[in-house]
Amino acid sequence: MKSRDIQDHLPIAPRQIVTTHGALELAKQSYGPAYLIAVLMLFRRHLNGDWGHVDNFDSRSNDDALISGYRILAAYTLCPIGCGRAVNGACEPHKVWIITEADRSATTMLLPSEY
Ligand SMILES: [Zn+2]
Repeated sequence: MKSRDIQDHLPIAPRQIVTTHGALELAKQSYGPAYLIAVLMLFRRHLNGDWGHVDNFDSRSNDDALISGYRILAAYTLCPIGCGRAVNGACEPHKVWIITEADRSATTMLLPSEY
């Protein structure tokens, strides 16, 4: 399968993939040497329509945005080992967002505080 074919079959066709320094640092703290693989897996989840820990309203908004072309926002937990603050798999202080812009020009992983 050519990469063009793969793009055509993803719910979101990725263009520019970007991460902020802060989000990469959190991934390093959480995953150690394998952090880049973990980051790629999060982008994969986002591009496949797995929105992570968003509420039902945001989840429905994202599903609609796939068709209507609005911004898409997913949230994932990246707890460093030993954090112990996660509730039902979500941890407020150790969260990243992955946002695809409405025009689909970029998909960015960032800390909520960097938005
Ligand atoms: Zn945590």
